[in-house]
Amino acid sequence: MPSNRRGRQKKGQQRRAQAQESQERLIGILENTTDPNERLLRSSARHLIKISRRHRLPVPSEARHLVCRKCHAPHRFGENARVRIKHGQRIITCLECSSIRRFGGGPKSHRRR
Ligand SMILES: [Zn+2]
Repeated sequence: MPSNRRGRQKKGQQRRAQAQESQERLIGILENTTDPNERLLRSSARHLIKISRRHRLPVPSEARHLVCRKCHAPHRFGENARVRIKHGQRIITCLECSSIRRFGGGPKSHRRR
């Protein structure tokens, strides 16, 4: 039944759209650092990673720096995360699980040939 198949596909798209919506909501919570609520931040960070994995969605670029991918701790720079620029890369060290993540393409990657 072709209509049935199309219906299923639409449902799948809806599911992804809802997952993306939740991602955005959670990022909104993580970005709101004016009123930090430790428990809320932590559960939001964990949910964000979980949702992204379950729905096989990429973690949006604006949230990649906000959450530790290993221990799911929300990063508060200067408190539990350290940022250094080295060789043209942004290096974020999580001070809770001491995992290191590097962002950026390395030396001179911003230059064009
Ligand atoms: Zn960590």
